[in-house]
Amino acid sequence: MFTEPRRLSDFPRHRGWLEVICGSMFSGKTEELIRRLTRARIARQRVEIFKPALDTRYHAQDVVSHNQTSIRSTPVQTPAEILLLAGGSTDVVGIDEAQFFDESLVEVCKQLADSGIRVIVAGLDMDYRGRPFGPIPALLATAEFVTKVHAVCVCCGELAAYSYRIAASEKQVLLGETDSYEARCRPCFLAGPAAKSWHDEQVATNRAQQ
Ligand code: ADP
Ligand code: MG
Repeated sequence: MFTEPRRLSDFPRHRGWLEVICGSMFSGKTEELIRRLTRARIARQRVEIFKPALDTRYHAQDVVSHNQTSIRSTPVQTPAEILLLAGGSTDVVGIDEAQFFDESLVEVCKQLADSGIRVIVAGLDMDYRGRPFGPIPALLATAEFVTKVHAVCVCCGELAAYSYRIAASEKQVLLGETDSYEARCRPCFLAGPAAKSWHDEQVATNRAQQ
């Protein structure tokens, strides 16, 4: 698996470029984003972090992973705000939950990278139906570095690339957690309710013990 550049010689000679971290829910996108941004800070680079203001699931301001690691961020309504807020002295811009932004995020990331900034974007590559999500496909096409991370399928333990919705809603954007989504591999995603998840087993066990 190709991940971020690891040696100094792997980096482009110019300073600006785009990295995308994609995958399903619970695949470790936010953990990986926080890891890269923390290392940039250790290298004394000036780091700015943004997330969509609509995503207040864990914290109004912090970017928080399911593993409880977190980093302070600035919530923004639109990608254009990122251009205004990432000042001339910024070395690295991190953006989480990028799938919630509109297509204008692609041009904003291009402008930031063109101006010499290392841009690291994390987001869901597919929605709950397995369709490419928002601006992510175009970001993948225009990035120098792409990392696809995988969760563990909650039905069979294989690598999971899909976010299976267990909540009854057909909206593309439904903010939710383990109560609304499960990480599933392709066969278990296709099997739908017929694939039994660990979550279902837990509920059945709890009922039996009552
Ligand atoms: P993402 O941003 O992709 O939703 P996070 O970085 O927030 O993912 O969280 C990853 C963490 O989620 C893992 O380290 C693990 O502790 C937890 N986790 C919960 N459910 C799963 C799962 N089904 N597969 C993998 N990790 C899971
Ligand atoms: Mg995340």
